[in-house]
Amino acid sequence: MNFFKTPLVLKKLYPSLIWDKHAETNQSEKKNIYLTFDDGPIPDLTPWVLTTLKSYNARATFFCVGDNVSQHPEIYQQMVNEGHQIGNHTYHHLDGWKTENFHYLRNILQCEELIDQLPKQKKLFRPPYGKIKLKQIQQLSPRYDIIMWDILSGDFDPDFNQEVCLERCQQHTQAGTIIIFHDNYKAQKNLTYVLPRYLEHFGEQGFTFATL
Ligand SMILES: [Zn+2]
Repeated sequence: MNFFKTPLVLKKLYPSLIWDKHAETNQSEKKNIYLTFDDGPIPDLTPWVLTTLKSYNARATFFCVGDNVSQHPEIYQQMVNEGHQIGNHTYHHLDGWKTENFHYLRNILQCEELIDQLPKQKKLFRPPYGKIKLKQIQQLSPRYDIIMWDILSGDFDPDFNQEVCLERCQQHTQAGTIIIFHDNYKAQKNLTYVLPRYLEHFGEQGFTFATL
């Protein structure tokens, strides 16, 4: 794992992106954690995530891949019905660095047609792989809040030890943290171990799991 907690220098280099909510949280004294799940919805794992969240009364933000929403509309609908926030993660999980700008934007709009985000001023977008060009940021910013992260859980690496994964997530989390998990099959082994324990741990400490 290259880095786990997003370095401050990266946050400062791209101030128009949203990396965490520490400042807002400090002002309001709320103890919020913002769970995010990328890449779903998929059968078995996403419904398991939803059940687990429900049992801890937690809300989360799901950055959905349009292609998966179109294949599993019933799971998508369950996310919406259970009060979770939905974000755009492109239609085909495109790498912004390798994709021509016009094609990238069109793919995002194609995803947008499928997902009805809860009414708010701006819609939410997260670039797959965290890779996005400056020009793409400029083109998306009027329409989208671009959500990055404060903590990368590392759940997607099957060789990453489950206990270490949990320990790192717990160690770096603070009020206002945006943490990334994945509802994809590569993450299944780590996610099913880490998520309930993480919810239990911070729930006991009086944290609220809120949507972005
Ligand atoms: Zn992704």
